[in-house]
Amino acid sequence: MKRYRKDITTWVLIILFLTILIIIYNEQRNNRYIEIGEDTAPPEELDPVVAAKTSQLLIKSAQQDINVVITEKVRSIKRQNELYEQGRSSDEDVVTYAKGGESYHNYGLAVDFALRNNDGKIIWDINYDGNNNGKADWFEVADIAKQLGFEWGGDWSKFKDYPHLQMDFGLSIRQLKKGLRPSHEQKDN
Ligand SMILES: [Zn+2]
Repeated sequence: MKRYRKDITTWVLIILFLTILIIIYNEQRNNRYIEIGEDTAPPEELDPVVAAKTSQLLIKSAQQDINVVITEKVRSIKRQNELYEQGRSSDEDVVTYAKGGESYHNYGLAVDFALRNNDGKIIWDINYDGNNNGKADWFEVADIAKQLGFEWGGDWSKFKDYPHLQMDFGLSIRQLKKGLRPSHEQKDN
């Protein structure tokens, strides 16, 4: 009987501890995210922090004599679905593994880049070394982007998406689909 009581006390303490953890977790989550609702239309512009970091990327790359071109920002769900079909319903190469609503582009949290070479042409050559410093420009840009807080698609193991840069602010696609968006309010304070 005594032993039984001890077990119950232990369990009550564990449950109490877990409850407190969940409360703290939710508090923090609420501070970082805003809820806009599931039915809200996707954004037409980049998230403001992503936009600012993208501008910094262009400036910092130019300082290394690298001309970066942003080829894609926000992508509509419709266009995402069209891209997904590419290489699946046709003979073209597969360009994405994300269906509409499943890419960070759909939430204004990703951009794609390319390079403008010394002849003024937009290129996707990841080995191009236009500034002649012995390092491929593409990887120099990726490094600058990572320093700015971007996640680079070239680091992915499953499908390497070399032009792709994104910031998820701790939000999963599932949470974004549910209508959660990053809150940048703390940074303004
Ligand atoms: Zn992309």
